[in-house]
Amino acid sequence: MPINHTLFVPIFLFAILFFCYSCYRRLQLVALGQPEDRFDRPGERLAAMLTYAFGQKRVLARPFGVNHFVLFWAFLFLLGANGEFLLEGLHPALTLAQLPTPLHHGLGFIFDAVSLLALVCVGVALARRLFFPPDYLGTDYTSPRSGEGLLILGMIAVLMIAFFVLHGALIALHGPEPWRPLSALTGNSLAGLSAASLEGVAVAAWWVHAIVLLVFMNLLPRSKHMHILTAIPNTYLTTLGKPNTQPRETFEKGERFGAGEVERLSWKDLLDSLTCTECGRCQDLCPAHNTGKALNPRRIVHNIKVNLMDNGAALKVPGAPRKPLIVEGEVEGAASEEAIWDCTTCGACLEACPVLIEQMPKIVKMRRYLVQEQARFPEELLNLFENTEQRSNPWGIAPGERAKWCDPFGERPFESGQTEYLFFVGCAGAFDNRSKHVTAAVAMILDAAGISWGILGKDELCCGDSLRRLGNEYVFDRLAEQNVTLFQKRGVKKIITQCPHCFSTLKNDYRQYGLEVEVVHHSELIQSLLADGRLRLEGTAPQGKLLFHDSCYLGRHNDTYAAPREALTAATGKEPGEFVRNSEKGFCCGAGGGRMWMEELTGTRINLERVKEALQEQPDTVCVACPYCMTMLEDGLKDEGAENVRVKDVAEVVAEALE
Ligand code: SF4
Ligand code: SF4
Ligand code: SF4
Repeated sequence: MPINHTLFVPIFLFAILFFCYSCYRRLQLVALGQPEDRFDRPGERLAAMLTYAFGQKRVLARPFGVNHFVLFWAFLFLLGANGEFLLEGLHPALTLAQLPTPLHHGLGFIFDAVSLLALVCVGVALARRLFFPPDYLGTDYTSPRSGEGLLILGMIAVLMIAFFVLHGALIALHGPEPWRPLSALTGNSLAGLSAASLEGVAVAAWWVHAIVLLVFMNLLPRSKHMHILTAIPNTYLTTLGKPNTQPRETFEKGERFGAGEVERLSWKDLLDSLTCTECGRCQDLCPAHNTGKALNPRRIVHNIKVNLMDNGAALKVPGAPRKPLIVEGEVEGAASEEAIWDCTTCGACLEACPVLIEQMPKIVKMRRYLVQEQARFPEELLNLFENTEQRSNPWGIAPGERAKWCDPFGERPFESGQTEYLFFVGCAGAFDNRSKHVTAAVAMILDAAGISWGILGKDELCCGDSLRRLGNEYVFDRLAEQNVTLFQKRGVKKIITQCPHCFSTLKNDYRQYGLEVEVVHHSELIQSLLADGRLRLEGTAPQGKLLFHDSCYLGRHNDTYAAPREALTAATGKEPGEFVRNSEKGFCCGAGGGRMWMEELTGTRINLERVKEALQEQPDTVCVACPYCMTMLEDGLKDEGAENVRVKDVAEVVAEALE
């Protein structure tokens, strides 16, 4: 086939150079982000990449994901076919025909079959976008029928069609190639043409394929389809473990806090923004977005990208005017201040994203900037900040009151070397009247199992969870330092908590402060005591129809799903019922991320949404494992006039079965 190589070589070189230049420009912007180590533990990173990028684990979780999975793998196989195609364009001898015949024919068959599969998948995707667009693709800044999305799909379709026409014409010209049965079908339909026409068709198909391929390649780094290039490395560079803690800050003179400008985010945050596929999975599960708030995690990521692109060159010039990253109201390319405060840090977005983008940590970094550099935060947080700083609890109650709940249990100070577990009661457990019942239930269970436990009494300080999620890192840092120093001084080796927020903070955040002790949530300890036969229940506690609500900081942030359910099964004699949205797909009660202390002024209240979902199941008891969830669900049930439904903690249900 007479391809004009002299014409193709400069076109190819220009296209490759332009592609490299575009990628370089994008990566240069990414490199402006703050340093972060994402290259340790290569084995675990490889495993994440194989699971999420090549295995498409989260993509497949949606029914339509199979189409994307097939298209992704077709794309990888066709890299080989397209590589050969381009090389052949440079020199006729650079072809897979140089390979041993069986291998060459085998590859030909694979490319033929995979091209058809890809064409079918593109057809399905086009039909879906045009005729059955999913809700989550149709928001104010994206559309399922966006020109760019349709153009990319159209280009892939043209590539596949050109492939079949090219090979069909060659088969019609030079005789059958049985290893290309699908191209042969195209060949049959061209069989009536003269040799000269067939050659013309082949050459035309070759050039169409070549030009579309080179344009497609150059479109990627300049469009939202950049994710085709960055998704695989992004999964390799993921946070290992759960992104439930953010890095410590140093409080030195001249230090900057959080992310008020786009380059104050880390380079990985910036890479994340270029990797977003705009699939809408995060916004679908976000409790704030679902209840009509300003926050949409997808938009947060999108706006970071737009800000990075719009500011572009200005970012490299210190002091150059630039678009702000955070504004009041809605502006493309900036996060809305209101949206930043809407986040409950529930982690649903983190669990949903197919390319492992970390939306919530970016929001916390922006909160850090607002609180620490700007002192700009919702008014109602002032009390919380002051109370926690001055009296080390959110209510500002005198520390001497902390151990009052314990009076019926006698003196229980933690004694180094003699007491096995420190019971870290937490502020809610010590001061909130409803939660004190849960605290007492935990203490009864520990006594019944013969566990040696003690408390720190007035020396215990707030763990600082709400402060850290709200961005008040300075006060959190002081509390964490003091708590950890106290634990170490007292020789604490094992800690029990009854609040998932304390649990997660002590277990995960305090590692940054050198705390390396065993931290268990009461539901985990109860479950293991039951399993070991150390805790014996005298009977079962009848609770009617019982529904279990997952706490985000127990489940999604720490993977504790089974323990509370098993404890409830043992205490009631039957498995607890489930909300429609449960476990990894659970729905926050609305109190996390410091939202416990804030008004909910827009949209529906998150706790009402959760309570309505509970009432669909007509429960007698809703069971929780978190003091905040307890408050939110009790309030919600009251507002819905469903006070006949009881809210109990796992510990209370188990304690009832002790009698
Ligand atoms: S952490 Fe929860 S509330 Fe915050 S953006 Fe993600 S899904 Fe929404
Ligand atoms: S951040 Fe992740 S889940 Fe959200 S739209 Fe982008 S790719 Fe999808
Ligand atoms: S209070 Fe409960 S449901 Fe709400 S964020 Fe915390 S753990 Fe999640």
